[in-house]
Amino acid sequence: MHADGDRLNTTNLLRLVIMFAGVLCGGVVDAQTSTANRWPFEAQIGQFALHSDFNVAADPQIVAQLGSLQADLKKTLQIEIYPEPIHLILFEHQSNYQGYMQRYFPNVPFRRALFIKRRGPGMVFAYKSDQMHIDLRHETSHALLNASLPYVPLWLDEGLAEYFESPPTGNVRQHVHQVSTRRKAFWRQVPSIESLEAVGDLSAMGATEYQEAWSWVHFLLHESDQSRGVLIRFLQDLQAHSPPGQLSRRVDTELPDWKNRYLAYFQR
Ligand SMILES: [Zn+2]
Repeated sequence: MHADGDRLNTTNLLRLVIMFAGVLCGGVVDAQTSTANRWPFEAQIGQFALHSDFNVAADPQIVAQLGSLQADLKKTLQIEIYPEPIHLILFEHQSNYQGYMQRYFPNVPFRRALFIKRRGPGMVFAYKSDQMHIDLRHETSHALLNASLPYVPLWLDEGLAEYFESPPTGNVRQHVHQVSTRRKAFWRQVPSIESLEAVGDLSAMGATEYQEAWSWVHFLLHESDQSRGVLIRFLQDLQAHSPPGQLSRRVDTELPDWKNRYLAYFQR
């Protein structure tokens, strides 16, 4: 379990959209041609092409969660998850991961796991750690959402990835953000979606913004059918390329008493 404050600095998961052309080469996935040089272990799990320097099959949880995440997103968000290929590049040791990232993505700051999407398929990079399963769910959630929607507002992309990084347990996902969210709700602090929408780039997403984004996704999905409908219709409109406007406006209109409802939900 990690403390709130260290998520971004030491363990955080960076979602990057790199918009330049070019081919990765030399023992790397060639995203332009969807071919890959041979890795010691390669496998196809649904739409995920796995490339790794260790036997991933020895970790059945990785295989199982990759198989279930797509269905989990589809069922929860009620949008189509497009079967676009996604490359997963996994390393047994942090040092190999770091060496690889420094070689091919020298300008990208160190993160324990990364989602990178260029013009080709999305790529997820990670190394074995005690957080690897969470990292993979977080980053592959980004990959699946960005494969399926024309764009995802930054804060919502992170809020959804945070939400889906915990596997569903019973009816409600337990998450490290629960405690801090409840503590803030006790002090009647309600984050505004509008201020999250104003966050322009990932470097401005701090630990607080991750927690607030998670809390809004969690609240909308679980408070009531009405609140869930607001988020789901927003995502469905996005997928249909129908200009969705700002989610904050929809919440103002459709859940005008959102402040009290947010507090009541997290003070329960
Ligand atoms: Zn992320």
